[in-house]
Amino acid sequence: MAQQETDEQTQINDGFVVDTEDCEARELAHRERGKARPITVVGNPVLHKECKDVTAFDDELAALIDDMFASQKAAEGVGLAANQIGVDLKVFVYDCPDDEGVRHTGVVINPVLQELPADRRVLDESNEGCLSVPTAYAELARPDYAEVHGQDPQGNPIKVRGTGYFARCLQHETDHLYGRLYIDRLSKRDRKDALRQMEEGTPRYETVPND
Ligand SMILES: [Zn+2]
Repeated sequence: MAQQETDEQTQINDGFVVDTEDCEARELAHRERGKARPITVVGNPVLHKECKDVTAFDDELAALIDDMFASQKAAEGVGLAANQIGVDLKVFVYDCPDDEGVRHTGVVINPVLQELPADRRVLDESNEGCLSVPTAYAELARPDYAEVHGQDPQGNPIKVRGTGYFARCLQHETDHLYGRLYIDRLSKRDRKDALRQMEEGTPRYETVPND
């Protein structure tokens, strides 16, 4: 009998996904089915162009998502985009705390970041890092609230919203799928400094060597 895939994101609140329940069990189930893959790093072409839209919501996509959760855990990340394991598709996963320390776990396919009204644009200047720029961190101002619209692994429309660190994660991961790294949003000097930190550090996870 085929494995029954429970639809983990069907619980809806104001049209927004409830991604705060059973996080532990859902994350574990994904990564136990999946296999961790090495992480692509800055300079790899797959990170520097827009990924393709997902059009097939099939078993292959489900397997990719499982591998992404496994890879995210192996690299101790709070979010991971498909091109960070070398796959040219608009998919990201996350397992990330928000402002109140509430854990959010989920998947977004074909995400589109929503423009915020001016009164919701409160900038937060926290540190940001990226598995694809290993061992580097830099301060980057981003809105402290974010909304992403996209699809779930079955192709149903979903909306995800977050505050604080989780808002930063939603923006960071959506950026990835449009070919943009957080260091591309830094000043020339800060970008150079981040790349220097990366040169000097050693990642604690496996990476894909650049040619
Ligand atoms: Zn990243």
